[in-house]
Amino acid sequence: MANRGPDNQQRNGNKPKFSIIALILLVIVFTFFGNQIFRLFTASKQEQVSYDRFLTAANDNLIQEAEISTDQIAYTLREDVENDEKILYYTTRLPDVELTDVVNTMQANGVEFAGVQPEDDTFSFLFSWVIFPILLFLIFSLIMRIVANRTGGGIGGGIGGIGSIGKSKAKVYMEKETGVTFRDVAGQDEAKESLVEIIDFLHNPKKYTAIGAKLPKGALLVGSPGTGKTLLAKAVAGEAHVPFFSISGSDFVEMFVGVGASRVRDLFQEASKVAPAIIFIDEIDAIGRSRDSKFGGNDEREQTLNQLLAEIDGFDSSKGVVILAATNRPEVLDKALLRAGRFDRRIIVDRPNLEGRYQTLLVHTRNIRLAEDVDLRKLAQATAGAVGADLANLVNEAALRAVRMGRQAVNQQDLLVSFETVIAGTEKKGTVLTDMEKRIVAYHEVGHALVAALRKHSQPVSKITIVPHTSGALGYTMQMPEEEKYLNSKEELLIQLQTLLGGRAAEQTVFGIQTTGAANDIQRATELARRMVTQFGMSDKIGLMALAATQSEYLDGQAYMDCAQTTAATADDEVRTLLSSCYESAKQLLRDNRALLDEISLYLLQKETITGDELMAYVNADSNRLPAAETEGEQ
Ligand code: ADP
Ligand code: ZN
Repeated sequence: MANRGPDNQQRNGNKPKFSIIALILLVIVFTFFGNQIFRLFTASKQEQVSYDRFLTAANDNLIQEAEISTDQIAYTLREDVENDEKILYYTTRLPDVELTDVVNTMQANGVEFAGVQPEDDTFSFLFSWVIFPILLFLIFSLIMRIVANRTGGGIGGGIGGIGSIGKSKAKVYMEKETGVTFRDVAGQDEAKESLVEIIDFLHNPKKYTAIGAKLPKGALLVGSPGTGKTLLAKAVAGEAHVPFFSISGSDFVEMFVGVGASRVRDLFQEASKVAPAIIFIDEIDAIGRSRDSKFGGNDEREQTLNQLLAEIDGFDSSKGVVILAATNRPEVLDKALLRAGRFDRRIIVDRPNLEGRYQTLLVHTRNIRLAEDVDLRKLAQATAGAVGADLANLVNEAALRAVRMGRQAVNQQDLLVSFETVIAGTEKKGTVLTDMEKRIVAYHEVGHALVAALRKHSQPVSKITIVPHTSGALGYTMQMPEEEKYLNSKEELLIQLQTLLGGRAAEQTVFGIQTTGAANDIQRATELARRMVTQFGMSDKIGLMALAATQSEYLDGQAYMDCAQTTAATADDEVRTLLSSCYESAKQLLRDNRALLDEISLYLLQKETITGDELMAYVNADSNRLPAAETEGEQ
């Protein structure tokens, strides 16, 4: 197998596969028709005869040479040899007791036997010692190849023969110049700062080695999916003008032990050939998962991890190979990976804040023609919680929408609608609600909004709609934080609970019914209440004891309970109490403001979508209950 130059990003797997199939066919043909082919080369003519004719020839002493194998008898006649002709007669050997006598007779007549035993047959010999092993090997390697192609192979290695089985199709991507710079990465200033040193090192390793400073061999980028970890790694390569090798940890997870390890070896070999370079390992948790994990061992992964550790320790960092790895589950990583001298630098790639989202929108609208009315700051405000990938997607959706609408530029409406598409799925035009259903949905949504607006500290609402969306929500209330919030007081959380339960409270208060539409609200409220009780120490009965620990902070933030069963039962009681008191309080609030609730709900029924401003206009007009200051600042 040829050595792969660094420029071949992916090897074309078709050619070798084809020739192997051809070879196998050839071998098969040779195996089954070998005897005949063999004879074709040794005899100029051949003729199939009946067994009887053979017996007659043998008994009449006409045979010059005979070859008796387990299934065939071949012979030449004296007559032909004398005439200088070479005709080979052959017949199928029958299970005939007589044959022994015949052979004895022939021996007495001085017939030459070329091969009485099949083992002595040249062809059989060749077949069993050379062709059969080759055939086996070829079939085996073909299977390996197919499997490797399915799972995505490693770098085509320089080692020939059996060592390179399964590595033919490279899944390593290599870019000479990524063309991405820090300009393309919005926000993430702290992460960039930590990476600047690495770039400087790649530019000028001598500066560091002269002093005797050792640079970290690798850095771990930690953050939620879509926050730009890959983008940052590419930007480091782009800024330093060095090649970028990337591979995903999940590609290493193979069924054949040893393949992953040899890929790691090849990856480092290739990279050090063209050093300085960046090696980027995405989803490193797929291989770097703790070896003593409770989910049981995995030989292949451990071998791969060991090889990775060995390579990290083994390579000379003064050459200028820097490894960047990304993960959203740093807590499952093996301690050995995080040890000093390996991935000892941890760079947090956070979800973007308001400014970060604004910058991200700026980056992604750089090449988009925007209409005058576009206000990216407002959009950034509305997209709290979105990550870079969401925003990139949003801008593209907006551009597509503008084209669909036959406009020359993207306007604010496109952006806002795309945001809803991205977070809620496209408007579901086909769903037709009955009038009664519509009324219930309207009251439900206004219930949420009104509780939020009437309670102090609560986040203002930016939009209420009862247009069904493909995500399954029949309507929704979009809350908009005025500012980034990192700390929430117990009072604020209680208001959040009331707001979440406000939908059901409105249904119950107005119609005296309970609908399935509140399922998601109840689930979210329960989650929040549970966290308040088990993690935030906000329940008097439980006190300041943590009953649950967060498992994967950067993914879904799921927590598992870690306490006695009776304590868990008490916690459940507390959660229920908390929820029902918030529910009662929301119902009371809506009963007290029943007129306002009716008014806004009717308006929403008419318009289907109302803005936060319209809502607040009603609320403010209704009474002086809310001081003016609290209604400012939204939108
Ligand atoms: P991750 O590796 O963290 O899952 P990626 O780096 O693959 O995320 O990000 C996916 C896409 O999202 C990028 O290609 C880019 O278009 C966009 N993106 C994410 N973060 C940013 C950012 N900070 N600035 C600009 N674009 C970003
Ligand atoms: Zn609801």
